[in-house]
Amino acid sequence: MKDGVSFKTKCVHAGNGIDKETGAIRRPIIMANSYRLPEDASNLNWSDTNLLIYTRNTSANQIYLQEKLASLEGGEDCVVLASGVAAISSVLFTFLNKNSHVICSNVSYIAVYRLLNELFPEKYGIKANLVDTSNLDEVKKAIRPNTRLIHVETPGNPTTRISDIAEISKIAKSIGALLTVDSTFASPYLQQPLKLGADLVIHSLTKYINGHGDAMGGAVIGKKELIDKIKRQAMVNLGGVISPFNAWLIMRGIVTLPFRMKQHSKSALKIAQFLESHPKVRFVAYPGLESHPQHHIAKKQMTMFSGIISFGLKTDVDGHNKFINSLKLIIPAVSLGHDESLIVYTGPNDERNHFYPEEFRNGHIRFSVGLEDTEDIINDLKQALDKI
Ligand SMILES: *Cc1c(COP(=O)(O)O)cnc(C)c1O
Repeated sequence: MKDGVSFKTKCVHAGNGIDKETGAIRRPIIMANSYRLPEDASNLNWSDTNLLIYTRNTSANQIYLQEKLASLEGGEDCVVLASGVAAISSVLFTFLNKNSHVICSNVSYIAVYRLLNELFPEKYGIKANLVDTSNLDEVKKAIRPNTRLIHVETPGNPTTRISDIAEISKIAKSIGALLTVDSTFASPYLQQPLKLGADLVIHSLTKYINGHGDAMGGAVIGKKELIDKIKRQAMVNLGGVISPFNAWLIMRGIVTLPFRMKQHSKSALKIAQFLESHPKVRFVAYPGLESHPQHHIAKKQMTMFSGIISFGLKTDVDGHNKFINSLKLIIPAVSLGHDESLIVYTGPNDERNHFYPEEFRNGHIRFSVGLEDTEDIINDLKQALDKI
């Protein structure tokens, strides 16, 4: 779907169409591994990622979902993979070579940390600097002559730290490096990194984009030339492809994305304000609060502030556990961006503690505000806080 219609309309229509065989107004789930070959297949490139040959090369439902996501992010093309981590590792695998240097947010998704801090350097001699990308001076200082890629996660997981996409894109362009932005916490409804100068935007579709906690997926969106390279090198050869069924579920989830993001954001702001005013709460990190250190950048590049709040209580490990286990509505579980509220406590022995902002180092809670009624969520937090 081309420009000229609004985001909400694209969420409903982009990538959908009339099924040619049945006339159904919703494209079907095509769970086939293989497609009928052309009459003369003697010259086929078996690694072709544009032809429907085999589901690892591409599948019909994958193509429909790619069309929807490219449209929502305002990108030329998209590749959808099996998970957010499949998307990130495919980008790193495709664009880093044995002598490359990469700059990355020092607190980012755990698999990114594992890949760039340990696996890629040890296996392939890739050099990585993990720096606080919310500080432009740190980004500039980390530049080397062989810096090929800058990867930022904004808002960051779990710190909610914000990196200035437009400013970092200027730095990346000035040295001929690619800027990749993990925009999972925001979704394309709240933030569109390509318009701010990023080369590639990455999502865990598992989170807000699917939004219902029942399918995993990942996506990379950007210029066709870059996306083709990811498909040719990483998708078909590493094989982290999405199941057509999951692609279909995610396509269905996206229809309500704008409505969900609005509710998540409105609710989270109220809850963050409630937590900030509570005497037992030690700190609250939410980009929508005036007290957030990068609130001014968040206001500049996001339309609302999404549904993730990190906070800590004035208590020890046992007290935090007591709080979490006293919750009746909010579920202790990993993942985020689901319909239901989810909460996770990380204790003070996290291996990445030295990278966290000071207030996170005594342990912290990551809270993904769900779509339940705001007052019900606040009441649940209140009664659990009363128990400690
Ligand atoms: C969850 C998450 C990922 C990884 O996505 P999966 O779908 O779990 O592989 C990457 N980045 C961020 C910011 C995430 O929250």
